[in-house]
Amino acid sequence: MNMNPTIRIEDIMQCVRPHLRGLQPYSSARDEFSGQAHIYLDANENPFGSPLLSVSVYNRYPDPHQQSLKERLAKLKGVAPGQIFLGNGSDEAIDLLIRAFCEPAQDRILITPPTYGMYEVSAAIHNVGVLKVPLLPEVFQLNTDEIIAQSRQAKLIWLCSPNNPTGNLLRREDIHAILTQVHCPVVIDEAYIDFSEDEGWLPHLEHYPNLIVLQTFSKAWGLAGLRLGVAYAHPQIIHLLDKIKPPYNINAYTQKMALQALDQRRQVALWIENTRRERQALSQALTSLPFVEKVFPSDANFILVRMQQASAIYRYLITCGIIVRDRSRVVLCDNCLRITVGKPEENRQLLNALREWQKNG
Ligand SMILES: *Cc1c(COP(=O)(O)O)cnc(C)c1O
Repeated sequence: MNMNPTIRIEDIMQCVRPHLRGLQPYSSARDEFSGQAHIYLDANENPFGSPLLSVSVYNRYPDPHQQSLKERLAKLKGVAPGQIFLGNGSDEAIDLLIRAFCEPAQDRILITPPTYGMYEVSAAIHNVGVLKVPLLPEVFQLNTDEIIAQSRQAKLIWLCSPNNPTGNLLRREDIHAILTQVHCPVVIDEAYIDFSEDEGWLPHLEHYPNLIVLQTFSKAWGLAGLRLGVAYAHPQIIHLLDKIKPPYNINAYTQKMALQALDQRRQVALWIENTRRERQALSQALTSLPFVEKVFPSDANFILVRMQQASAIYRYLITCGIIVRDRSRVVLCDNCLRITVGKPEENRQLLNALREWQKNG
């Protein structure tokens, strides 16, 4: 691809809020001494242990830099540990990115609705403005020229691919054009990339100093309850996020369990295969229902479906004990439900319930 040599990391770091550039981060006890010792009297921990006798040591603070986990993840993803930030869910990374780049009551982020709601909520929490450049209707692709035109007024651009709630990947040519023609950081949220055939943007991190890729352990990895999200970016951006994060943001249990999970790639790959197969079967079955108007193609583990009386069907499914997501009031998603691809038996029951609705409707 044709890279743009005019965007340099130095320019991107100019987007950082001025008061953070020279910030001296909190120095934890484990920062000031990181070697091995046999008596630790530096962190005011309980020396006797924790009441959780059967499990491992939780009386000690966790590694604030998550070194083992980052090293393991770096190998798996083909990046350097210095290109990895770990957050308490992607939601923490989203929050910290806005904190790092956006001055409250002054700066703005740019989002492309319909998309994940946390970008806007997080901006609102920080009193940061939101520029909206909606996706193109029905195809849900980027309005690239408009995004580039409006990017001058934005400090951060948020793209989501595959996009939530629409399920589709964003076109690579569009993303490349944005990455090379704007002068601010561009976040690509790849929470669902494992379910797609696309390689995503991680293999191209080196080429774009303004690229930040978000991934998560919450979806394909099946660890939503642990709260672990990842941001991949240029080491200077990672260093900035590390400076402003709470020192012990990833707890010891999460670090330990994530390391164990990373040894179970075969299991995760099998689930992904199953999900793709079920996604295909469920899409086909939904298409054949007469009240379904459109089943949007999906590269994720959910399907956006437009149907007659979507909200009524949403409420009807609740009475059947089946919960889907009503997106019918979301821009460009009128009469749409977002349905997560479940296990085969769950999908079968969903389809049965929908066929019942059809008979009685
Ligand atoms: C589910 C999801 C996430 C994951 O958030 P976590 O805080 O890591 O659980 C991130 N982005 C999008 C678009 C999502 O749908």
